[in-house]
Amino acid sequence: MSIKPIVFTPTLFFKRAVCPHWIWHDIFSDPTDKGEMPELTLKLFEQGVLHEKEYIEELEYTQVEQVNLLQAFDNTLALMKIGEELIYQGVIQYEENGILYQGRPDLLKKVPGKSNFGNFYYQPIEIKSSKEIKQEQKYQLVFCGIILERLQGVFPKESAIINKDKETIPFLINREECEKTVNRIEEILRILKGDKPPLKLVSNCKNSPWFKKCVSEAEEKNDIALLYHLDCRSHRVLRNCGINTVSDVASMDIDSLPKIPFASKETLERVKIQAQSLEEKKLKWLADPRLPQSDLKIFFDIEGDPLLQSQYLFGFWISGDSDFKYAKIGNIRKYENEGKYFLYFLAEEPDDEETLWKQFLEWLDILPDEYIVFHYANYEKTWTAKLAEKYGGSEKFSHFHSKLFDLEDARKDSVIFPLYFYSIKDIAKSRFINFKWRHEKAGGAQSIFWYEKWLEEKDPEVLKDIINYNEDDVRATEFFYLWLTKYSSPHDSEATPVFPQFMGSQVP
Ligand code: SF4
Repeated sequence: MSIKPIVFTPTLFFKRAVCPHWIWHDIFSDPTDKGEMPELTLKLFEQGVLHEKEYIEELEYTQVEQVNLLQAFDNTLALMKIGEELIYQGVIQYEENGILYQGRPDLLKKVPGKSNFGNFYYQPIEIKSSKEIKQEQKYQLVFCGIILERLQGVFPKESAIINKDKETIPFLINREECEKTVNRIEEILRILKGDKPPLKLVSNCKNSPWFKKCVSEAEEKNDIALLYHLDCRSHRVLRNCGINTVSDVASMDIDSLPKIPFASKETLERVKIQAQSLEEKKLKWLADPRLPQSDLKIFFDIEGDPLLQSQYLFGFWISGDSDFKYAKIGNIRKYENEGKYFLYFLAEEPDDEETLWKQFLEWLDILPDEYIVFHYANYEKTWTAKLAEKYGGSEKFSHFHSKLFDLEDARKDSVIFPLYFYSIKDIAKSRFINFKWRHEKAGGAQSIFWYEKWLEEKDPEVLKDIINYNEDDVRATEFFYLWLTKYSSPHDSEATPVFPQFMGSQVP
């Protein structure tokens, strides 16, 4: 009985780009351990299909309709032999050493030149919903080129993608791109044959259907992959030194270690404390948090859509303006009982981004000079500077930008949590701060999914989810700030302060 070949398709390049484990788990793990695909990933896939359908409407082509891939391949080969001008969804393949290399390029375009078919040969073209050509797309085009060379005797050096604006982005395949692709194919083949990549966990893992599985595997082994501050490129040398577990790191003698790539002595000292924090399930204080003081405190968070390259919501939680003196511009949700309010500027359409910015600048004009703006991580600082460059800033904006204070820096300098990830959500949801987001799916990727959905369906409930999510983000930022301030005086890491729980029902 003939052994079924291992099938290698271009999708593997995209999975490998997200994570090598994804490929391994999809083959060797129990499918019931696989979680749902994030809604944003599914939406991107849908958009890709829609964009493709829209683009080919303008073309004259012959479509290979067969679902059965072998029949589709036979049909594609027949069309190529008779010199069909443009083939849509053709299947190309060849088998070697038990591997079936199979591709279904969106388009196969006939171009002049000698080949086994005659005075013409075919080049692959992919229709993509990205603006620029990505490395995974280059791998895909080279991969199809390698297969076409087997079928037509000529390697198509010229190929292209059609981008989200239906522009043709040419891609000239040179030796370097071929070598990179062959190396990537060999790496993926090792995984397909059972070679399990070493464990690693990165923040992007949260968008993967295998997230829970990978975390539980790492926990079972108490693996160094659980250490947030340790770059996964440092793992191999540490493992070679016999340091494989969190316990090993918690007791490691740093001075006796060889040079560890991507990990300075300071980093290793920090990772050691984090390992002890995880082992003891306790906070580890490094220093008193240093926090600027001001009566007027503004907690700031931006929602942006990297697919549209557009920032669509600026949200602010205002504390210290119980008379609502500065609640004059923008959308406002007042909480009289707390003497605080949520203020936001919203771009209902990506083209409204400039209006959002201008409203924000207008609001800055009514603010006093004395205030502090707290945010978490550098997204807000980076994107406000970019928008000022794009649409113009102001003196008041430069003042605002100088008042930005990143609580992530305060966290890094003062305390280590027994956590695997350190986003504001991981920290605020932890048992130490215990903040609850109203929507169970609340998250950055989900917010982008909601915005894309709002643009398509204009459902006000979806817009409300986005605004509520952002409000929860800025409230959580204040919760974390209040927690740090409570702890900035001499402290006892055992005590866990209790904060009044914020529940969605208060929202009008
Ligand atoms: S959870 Fe992370 S490590 Fe696991 S497969 Fe997904 S991306 Fe890879």
